[in-house]
Amino acid sequence: MTDVQHLIDNVILHKDFKAEDLQGVNLARELKKLDTFESSLKGQGWKKGSVKISVPCPKKKVAKSEAVEFEIEGLLYQDLTTVIKNACQDETTIGSFHTTPFKEMWKPSDNASPVRLYGEAYMSDEMINTYEEVQNVPPRPDYPDVENVVVELAPYSDTTMLAQFGTAFLWPVYIYFGNLSKYIRSQPSSHAAHHMAYFPSLPDSFSNWYWETFGTVPSEATITHCKQELIQALWLLILSAPDFVQVYQYGIFICFADQVIHHVFPRFFAYMADYPEKVLLACIRNLGTCPCPRCLIKKKYLPGLGTRVDIQQRAKLRTCDQRYQDKIETTQKIIYENGYVVNSKAVNRVIGSESFTPTRSAFISALSQFGLNFFSLFVVDLMHKFKLGVWKGVFTHLIQILYTQGAEVIAEFDRR
Ligand SMILES: [Zn+2]
Repeated sequence: MTDVQHLIDNVILHKDFKAEDLQGVNLARELKKLDTFESSLKGQGWKKGSVKISVPCPKKKVAKSEAVEFEIEGLLYQDLTTVIKNACQDETTIGSFHTTPFKEMWKPSDNASPVRLYGEAYMSDEMINTYEEVQNVPPRPDYPDVENVVVELAPYSDTTMLAQFGTAFLWPVYIYFGNLSKYIRSQPSSHAAHHMAYFPSLPDSFSNWYWETFGTVPSEATITHCKQELIQALWLLILSAPDFVQVYQYGIFICFADQVIHHVFPRFFAYMADYPEKVLLACIRNLGTCPCPRCLIKKKYLPGLGTRVDIQQRAKLRTCDQRYQDKIETTQKIIYENGYVVNSKAVNRVIGSESFTPTRSAFISALSQFGLNFFSLFVVDLMHKFKLGVWKGVFTHLIQILYTQGAEVIAEFDRR
């Protein structure tokens, strides 16, 4: 129904719509093309899905479990376990797939003491410690001599506009593997990024639906809240698949492309995304008092970047301990059962000082029982945080200054 309304409102009634463009269109043929595309995706292990989110309405007091739900369709995804198997069985990258992490040392000269080098995920303490942890899992009698190994998952998602004009976009989610060198991972030709999902966004019809359901328009804060609920619901659908939780806890036996069987334990290593997406994922406020998805540094201390005090500030990490989870539980009661708005004082009193939002993360719901602190996944992403942000801004500014100094200066700059 909403799709047909969308077709009338935004396509047929649009001033740029030309009926003659439809001449010669054969609907049966076009639908057949779509069917073939969908069945080819199904053949490759893709599934279609939808999720429901609880929508709060101010002054409407009801338990969260009984709140009105809004369904979002259009999710395309693959089982995470399938993605992991595909990566382990990929013949093109198997020669570079590190199942045993290590420390790399460098001796600058014969007399100098060795220096530890950090450059790859499989040389990090994080992966070494995780690898040692899974060694404690006793071997299964049916696979007595199989090595326990860790497969490091690094999801990456980014909304991509499909055209210069209009709102058409895709929201693909990829899984990278920390077991592969960054020099391989980053090369598009190595196909080391594994497609896992296409996320749908909150449709424009949501506001209409809200109006029809509650007789009022949703506030900006409510829409942001629903977007956060949506991304968590999508991830929860993927993470809480019974086979994935089982695989995460007990491991899975996979025969790698080199014909060696390993007992594989998948672990999340990092989540790469731009800041607006990290805000949604980490369930924090956009540029709030504590704007960082990883630590509790206050916005007023950000200019201290690089100082010793700054390092101390950043050492206060966010944790998804019981105290945090209880707070989220409390705020959800305040919103649904007491009927307060999502950004009300009553909510902020509980979670405002740390800029959390009243949404429960999917990673907490599915994996915190296994000790995952999902805030630690949001590592600094040099491309999004520095190169496309700070550095690009500074560089553009410098170029503009150079232009005011005349063509010779520009030529000298180009020469250098
Ligand atoms: Zn931080």
